[in-house]
Amino acid sequence: MALIDNFSLEPKPKRQKIDNNNEFSSSSTSSSCGHCWVCYGVCTACKSTVDNRQGRSFDYLFDGLQLSHDAVALTKRLVTKLSCLNEKKLHLVLDLDHTLLHTIRVSSLTEAEKYLIEEAGSNTRDDLRKLKAKGDPMEYLTKLRPFVRDFLKEANEMFTMYVYTKGNRDYAKAILDVIDPKQIYFGKRVITRDESPYTKTLDLVLADERGVVIVDDTRDVWIDHKSNLVEISKYRYFRMNRKESKPYSEEKIDESENDGGLANVFEIAQGSSQWILQSRRRAGVRGREAAATRD
Ligand SMILES: [Mg+2]
Ligand SMILES: [Zn+2]
Repeated sequence: MALIDNFSLEPKPKRQKIDNNNEFSSSSTSSSCGHCWVCYGVCTACKSTVDNRQGRSFDYLFDGLQLSHDAVALTKRLVTKLSCLNEKKLHLVLDLDHTLLHTIRVSSLTEAEKYLIEEAGSNTRDDLRKLKAKGDPMEYLTKLRPFVRDFLKEANEMFTMYVYTKGNRDYAKAILDVIDPKQIYFGKRVITRDESPYTKTLDLVLADERGVVIVDDTRDVWIDHKSNLVEISKYRYFRMNRKESKPYSEEKIDESENDGGLANVFEIAQGSSQWILQSRRRAGVRGREAAATRD
C-alpha cells in the first residue's frame, strides 16, 4: 500500500537498546521489539518494562500511553496522510488565553467592571462565564472572544483541532466545558501545562508538522515552529493594568465580530489550508505521473 511504503515498524538498531538488568525484560522477544506502544511502562507487544526516556508520553490522549520515537514519526505521517486523503482536513492548534478568550480573577475586577459578575450569573450573556477550576479556591470570570463559537464550528469543517494551553488541565477542562461541552471539536486533543510546562511544541501533536496551522497570540512559546504560526492579536477584554486606557469591559463595548482577530485569522487559516492541500494534491499527482513513467 502506497501510504505506508516509506514506513517500517521495524526498530532502528540504535533504538533497540534495552535494560538487560531488568528482571521483567524477556531477552529474545524484547531485543527484537521496538517497544512502539507502551502502556503504563509496559510494552504492549513484548511485555517488557520500558524506560520512559525511550519515547514520548501521550497521557493526554490515553492514560499511561507512551510511544517510541519511531511510532510517533509513523503515527504523525499516517494521521496526516489519511486525514488529508479521506477528510481533506489539516490540523489546527489553538491557544486559549488571549486567543479564544480572556480570563481574570474575580478578585482583580475593578469597580467599573464589577457589573459583569451579575451579568455572568444572569444567563443573559453566553459569552461571559464565572469559572471555578477543580482544586483552585479562586473564582474566575471568562469572556469569550467575539466570533469564537462560529470560528470553532467553521474551522471544524476544515481542520482536526487541538487545544494547546499554558494553563493547567483543570483550567482547560473548565474552559472546555464552556466552549466544547459535548467534546465535538477537540475530543481528547487537549495539551496543557501538565504535559508541556515550558514551551510549546508540535512534537506532542500527532500530525505531520507540514500540515499543521497554529493560532496563538504568543509567538515566543513556539521556539521551533514559528513557520506554522498564525499570530493573532491579543484579546484583552478586562483591565490588565492601571495605566492602560479604558478596556472593553469598562467601555461596555467589544472587539468587532466581523473584523476582529478571530475573523481575520479564520481567513488566513482557510487560505493556508487550501494552499497546503493543493500542494499535497499536486505532489500526489506528480508522484503518480513519475510512477507511471517508470512503469
Ligand atoms: Mg495566549
Ligand atoms: Zn516491546
